[in-house]
Amino acid sequence: MSGANAVCGGPKKIKRAVCGAINRCTNHASPKYADYGGRGITVHAAWVADRGAFFAYIAALPGAGEPGLSLDRIDNDQGYEPGNLRWTTASEQRRNARRGPRPNRRRKMLEKAPVGSRFGRLSVVSHEHRPYTTPGGYTRMVAYAVVRCDCGIECARRIADLASGHSTRCEQCARRRSA
Ligand SMILES: [Zn+2]
Repeated sequence: MSGANAVCGGPKKIKRAVCGAINRCTNHASPKYADYGGRGITVHAAWVADRGAFFAYIAALPGAGEPGLSLDRIDNDQGYEPGNLRWTTASEQRRNARRGPRPNRRRKMLEKAPVGSRFGRLSVVSHEHRPYTTPGGYTRMVAYAVVRCDCGIECARRIADLASGHSTRCEQCARRRSA
């Protein structure tokens, strides 16, 4: 290896990408946690358990560790997981950066919880976008569904939480259930 590659490329850079990703997504003390772990960006569980497997995967991607390229998530709302990673230039990554929900992403999200669909005790009544603040303090607009619980109470749920099976009842029914 020679030239720039010896200085800023190669395995060291790949190792930094692995550790940086895991740190941003799992370490609450990381200054970048709010934008990653805090907004639900995760690292594939098998890679957290075995950093060597993470390293091997990204080392095998085109352009791995080359100067001027850095590890990038293809879908910015998905995590560091197989199929969602590539090595790109900073300008390509800026183009892919978060700008709030883009129209096709917004539509895709709404299609996960169409009006009338049911999630546990909740029926979707309508849709709206609301600001959502992550535990890390980062606020962005996310898709919510206004839902009616079987008990009659109306409330709002993040569509992501409905789709993932996280939200299946209103607060009151949840309390009653755990009581
Ligand atoms: Zn209820």
